[in-house]
Amino acid sequence: MKKRLEEVKARIFRAAERSSRDPSRIKLVAVTKQVEVDTIREAISAGVTIIGESRVQEASRKYDQMGRAGLAWHLVGHLQTNKVKRALEIFNFIHSVDRLSLAEEIDRRARQEGKVVPVLIQVNVAAKESQFGLLEDQLFPLLSKIDGLEHLQIEGLMTIAPLTTDPEEARPYFRRLREIAEEVKHRTWKSIKMKYLSMGMSNDFEVAIEEGANMVRIGSAIFGGWSYRG
Ligand SMILES: *Cc1c(COP(=O)(O)O)cnc(C)c1O
Repeated sequence: MKKRLEEVKARIFRAAERSSRDPSRIKLVAVTKQVEVDTIREAISAGVTIIGESRVQEASRKYDQMGRAGLAWHLVGHLQTNKVKRALEIFNFIHSVDRLSLAEEIDRRARQEGKVVPVLIQVNVAAKESQFGLLEDQLFPLLSKIDGLEHLQIEGLMTIAPLTTDPEEARPYFRRLREIAEEVKHRTWKSIKMKYLSMGMSNDFEVAIEEGANMVRIGSAIFGGWSYRG
């Protein structure tokens, strides 16, 4: 795992340099779904500071076992409205806001806890029915409605590219998310910021970085998994 982590970091570094970006500005979210606590602890020793979990229930169990452990906990998967309360106890950052009711529930619970929760809006750029995230033309209407919420801080956008064998096929979706973020930046908002573009996974993170990602969510390339085992 340690060796794979170093390799991933080196690839992030090279992809950043290729596109004249500062490698230190690219945040690595180590996705630890289906990874057990012992291995997460090893990852911490190896230098991981941000973990990504895709399900509240699984994260909750690990959090009870290991505590915060000095990590930033990111929720990268779909969030059900009835799990927001627990999610806010665990996660510092949410990548997957994709509807008004969810944004409002996060705001309401965060207010009760006296915090402001940084979130990303998940956009389904490829408009795949099998994927979560809102469609491009739903983005601005949603942003207009939630810009005023005081306990939700919108800090950028997230997307998942369709799974392909050739990472080049993901490039247009990453490029499009970056363009959408530029469009958002060109309008005036109360509190919306476009600091982060969360895009790129094990299969396609180098292409994502070339297209402007500054948060990459990487699981199997670090921890092993179906596509890396053996
Ligand atoms: C699982 C997952 C990842 C990591 O996927 P890998 O291909 O294992 O790197 C990233 N983002 C989300 C939303 C995920 O569910």
